[in-house]
Amino acid sequence: MRPKSPTPQVHIETFGCQMNESDSELVRSMLKREGFAFTEDRERADVVLVNTCAIRENAHNKIYAHLSELKGLKKQRPLVVGVLGCMAQNLKGELAEKEPLVDILAGPDAYRQLPMLLSTALEAQEQGFSQKGFALDLSEYETYEGIMPDRNSGVNAWITVMRGCDNFCSFCVVPYTRGRERSRDPEAILLEARDAAASGFKQITLLGQNVNSYRSDEWDFARLVCAVADTPGIDRVRFTSPHPKDFPPALIEAIATHPKVCKHIHLPLQAGSDRILDLMGRTYTEADYLALVERIRGTIPDVVLTTDIICGFCSESDEDFQDTYRMVERVRFDSAYIFKYSERKNTIAARKYLDDVPDFVKGTRVSKLVEVQRRITLERNREYVGREMEILVERDATRSSTQGMGKTDGNITVVWDKGTSLFEPGTLITKHIFDASAATLYGE
Ligand code: SF4
Repeated sequence: MRPKSPTPQVHIETFGCQMNESDSELVRSMLKREGFAFTEDRERADVVLVNTCAIRENAHNKIYAHLSELKGLKKQRPLVVGVLGCMAQNLKGELAEKEPLVDILAGPDAYRQLPMLLSTALEAQEQGFSQKGFALDLSEYETYEGIMPDRNSGVNAWITVMRGCDNFCSFCVVPYTRGRERSRDPEAILLEARDAAASGFKQITLLGQNVNSYRSDEWDFARLVCAVADTPGIDRVRFTSPHPKDFPPALIEAIATHPKVCKHIHLPLQAGSDRILDLMGRTYTEADYLALVERIRGTIPDVVLTTDIICGFCSESDEDFQDTYRMVERVRFDSAYIFKYSERKNTIAARKYLDDVPDFVKGTRVSKLVEVQRRITLERNREYVGREMEILVERDATRSSTQGMGKTDGNITVVWDKGTSLFEPGTLITKHIFDASAATLYGE
């Protein structure tokens, strides 16, 4: 449905994971097709869409703070405010009742309805009243096939290959906000990869909540990764996030042997204690995880391994935490995202277990893990000093425009002085690494 007013300007703000980034690109494509325009300037927007994340308390608080800011804006002039994504899906009642500011709520499977919802809200606003619209049905089939994302510029293109998750880890809200697992048609994914290459993207990151459970007839994830990596013009393929419970030898082999599949695996551990892993519903033990790491490192010697860890899950004792601490020391991840557990509404843990670890204990455990991981990351990064590394050039370094920034195949950040040499984002260059910190390698 085409909006009546002269091209309404939409401003979209994205919080949370790469999947949300990718969804925002789909939303932009669908709305542009229906005659909406986009602006980077929130002050000029007729519509502000906030694409939200529900994974942690922190993310929630950030979004509520953001919505408060929009209240001020909406007092000054007509504005339609839409909340999209996981928080819209998970907190529908709360947001619809407690936030009079919000005109539109749309969950991750309902974005095709956005043009209609926005047109209706804008028309109502023109006539001097407010018309709320909610689209929150989860779908067993929606994969947004046929919609080519309107991508953010850069060297990386996100491609979502599957949506939803059937794992129901007890702490996780995703199966409730994004529904059951669905894999996309491989031919549609390959078409998107070719389109990304034709638009100048050099790297593709395949996305899915549980990406290695991808399956479509004869296609499994290992086959898909290799087929995408064969796309002419694409130099690198990454993926995130796999679940340790289904990481088949064929996928390890594909990473080891295909020159364009990056040797970086993000393998969420979550906890190192078997008792906590069981309560979390992760379906692997500490021994299973270690065996997988051994298989991966045995086949891909230079692999970069990163992880996610939750501290202070329900009933986590000091001994359980020590198990996690020992795991971190034993595996020696290249880096780790370490978070405090925060209870999410509607999850199995919220219904069955007590969130009984005091906040300061969670905080202390996070600090201890961050400290040990920082030391390990620094030690691992120092192993690159003296080596020549291939880098995909991304952009100017954050701290200085006289420096360039790019990533190694293992996704480690490298910065170097640009000097007078040619600097072109999207090119592969080789740098000699002369120094390393816990966050960065320094090239010359
Ligand atoms: S695998 Fe577990 S943690 Fe990951 S999205 Fe699914 S339920 Fe959540």
